[in-house]
Amino acid sequence: MKQYDVAIIGFGKGGKTLASFLGKRGRKIAVVEKSKKMYGGTCINVACIPTKYLIHEAKKLQVHKNQEWEEKAKAYASVVVSKKEFIDKLRLGNYKKVNKSEVAEVIDGFASFVDEHTLSVEQENGMIQIKAETIIINTGATPVLPDIVGIKNNPVVYTSDTLLNEERLPQTLSIIGGGYISLEFASMYADFGSKVRIFDRGDTFLPKEDENVAKAVRETLEKKGIEIYLQAQSKKVEGDQLVIEFTKENSEKIFQSDAILLATGRKPNTDGLQLEKAGVKTGKRKEIVVDNQLRTSTPHIFAIGDVKGGPQFTYVSLDDYRIVADQLTGGKEYNQEKRGYLPYSVFIDPPLSRIGLTEKEATEKNLNFDLFTLAAADIPRAKLIGETEGMLRVIVEKDSDKILGAALFCAESYEIINLIKYNMDTRDTYYTLKNQIYTHPSMTESLNYLFDELV
Ligand SMILES: Cc1cc2nc3c(=O)[nH]c(=O)nc-3n(C[C@H](O)[C@H](O)[C@H](O)COP(=O)(O)OP(=O)(O)OC[C@H]3O[C@@H](n4cnc5c(N)ncnc54)[C@H](O)[C@@H]3O)c2cc1C
Repeated sequence: MKQYDVAIIGFGKGGKTLASFLGKRGRKIAVVEKSKKMYGGTCINVACIPTKYLIHEAKKLQVHKNQEWEEKAKAYASVVVSKKEFIDKLRLGNYKKVNKSEVAEVIDGFASFVDEHTLSVEQENGMIQIKAETIIINTGATPVLPDIVGIKNNPVVYTSDTLLNEERLPQTLSIIGGGYISLEFASMYADFGSKVRIFDRGDTFLPKEDENVAKAVRETLEKKGIEIYLQAQSKKVEGDQLVIEFTKENSEKIFQSDAILLATGRKPNTDGLQLEKAGVKTGKRKEIVVDNQLRTSTPHIFAIGDVKGGPQFTYVSLDDYRIVADQLTGGKEYNQEKRGYLPYSVFIDPPLSRIGLTEKEATEKNLNFDLFTLAAADIPRAKLIGETEGMLRVIVEKDSDKILGAALFCAESYEIINLIKYNMDTRDTYYTLKNQIYTHPSMTESLNYLFDELV
């Protein structure tokens, strides 16, 4: 049986970065990956990178939005083909970077625990076992399949993983679920030319955002022709007919759909790992329970990335790598609590980027704060690139002058938000951002004007 210092289950963001870090420091590393189509993990193969590639291309196609349907469908198919080529290259690049003597050995197959130091790997030609001193679980998450009659083996029903590879542009796309992944797909497919409908069973659109931010996002999506239905419970699918029950009105309606996207969340990938054989505990949603240093209930086994529950982002998985690397080779000082503020961006058009408290949350906490807002239309760069839609909102604590939270709904907000995170993490006041020299004309210079706009 082969013996390793560290075995990593899953070729995700944190795992591959850790493999490279430890391998280059002389540790003997194995990375076990169940699918040859997933070297590099979810982000590069079926999530962040392919979606943002398609979103970017869809936006470029906007100049041809008055084209005939056949032309739009052809353009879409060609983008999906070029996306596949792009992703294939990334995947191969990731494999080559990790599977080399000075980094790690990549072992193909599905890993499960035999005991707390032994893994069994189910391969195409049978089973092997490996042993490791330290084990890292980096198995990610998979889409939740809701309990709706008629979705199983239905060729028009997709998850985000599968829709991205479909070369046929759906004329009608129904999306079940109204979360952030749903909105990105809705915006992108509307840009490609599909008629998009979103069905959410809740009664509030983007319930975690401030009302006026949610309203602005909704209006922008509706301008693209996207229809958003709330209190809309998906009941069943019959062929390409999606039956929706409108719970408030107690009525039912059928929506013909060339494609139905299930965007109802993602669950940690712990099935089949036989965690109980290694004494690794899971929580209510089958997520692996970890401590502040990402150690599981069996201390030499760590869990990183989506599989441990909590916010599901590539940069969280990457930061998890820093925690484990510090535990294995460093001063054991870095932990989850020291991560700082966690921003996120929803890549609709314009993108929505958020960090910290919303106005609603700050009010509920009885905080004494000022609200600064700026319309995107007032930013010189926004005018010159013709992207004047949206607004910026930042809340600042009155006594300390520190930023409590921000919602940036404007072009390139996914860049600006990182600057706000830095300001918040360093516990600086907003004056540093307000009085900073920024290049001109840039979207970042909006921060010069924003803080003059006290509401
Ligand atoms: C549509 C979509 C868009 C997204 N967009 C963004 C974005 O823009 N920005 C962002 O930060 N995040 C985004 N995310 C989230 C992001 O993709 C994830 O948070 C991130 O990829 C999680 O990485 P990870 O390290 O947990 O593991 P993953 O990258 O998920 O890797 C897990 C790996 O483990 C393998 N595996 C699973 N079980 C086993 C086993 N038993 N044996 C061997 N191998 C196994 C899997 O095949 C997989 O390759 C998006 C997600 C989706 C679905």
